[in-house]
Amino acid sequence: NTFAEIDLGDALNQNIRRCKYVKPTPVQRHAIPICLGGRDLMACAQTGSGKTAAFCFPIISGIMKSQAVQRPPRGARAVYPLALILSPTRELSCQIHEEARKFSYQTGVRVVVAYGGAPINQQLRDLERGVDILVATPGRLVDLLERARVSLQMIRYLALDEADRMLDMGFEPQIRKIVEQMDMPPRGVRQTMLFSATFPKPIQRLASDFLSNYIFLAV
Ligand code: AMP
Repeated sequence: NTFAEIDLGDALNQNIRRCKYVKPTPVQRHAIPICLGGRDLMACAQTGSGKTAAFCFPIISGIMKSQAVQRPPRGARAVYPLALILSPTRELSCQIHEEARKFSYQTGVRVVVAYGGAPINQQLRDLERGVDILVATPGRLVDLLERARVSLQMIRYLALDEADRMLDMGFEPQIRKIVEQMDMPPRGVRQTMLFSATFPKPIQRLASDFLSNYIFLAV
């Protein structure tokens, strides 16, 4: 019933202590073992439930533990993140980025954020310096994909945060376009985590389209 009992890797466990997290919240207690076990997850969880850590810990831990990191094709201009976290707004993306950076301190895992409504040039420079986990809003990511500055061909972890809000904001076409790119060959093994406060029909459809053999969690 403490983080120390979950094997997330030494560096991450140390960062969790630095953040003064001792006891997992309910969504963390259930979601983290499911995700560490490699299963897809549909989680109904509210803001403030600790869901950011629930999807960040397994992603960071998984990237740290992965032995053979695929190398992008030689001469590629695009960057090849291993994990993608999609969120509806600039504010939320920046919050997730900030937390993910604390959790990945001294792990070698690089986190970059890209959101709309801000100049793209600084974000392009951040990406060029290397990215393992990309936190992005859907519109800006589609822009980066169209410019061929990001490739999703090596994504192994996909987290969709506040999916109901993303749909309310009209991002469904962008989200589908993004996931389609990940489904193109050579499609590797991908683990997908879908978080939403509510579970109406459109979210159920996303879950059945994007997740395979998933576990449903409501906290
Ligand atoms: P979130 O729902 O991910 O936005 O998290 C809400 C707030 O709770 C954030 O300020 C987190 O830093 C904090 N938090 C998340 N998990 C824990 C935990 N296990 N122990 C203490 N604080 C936490």
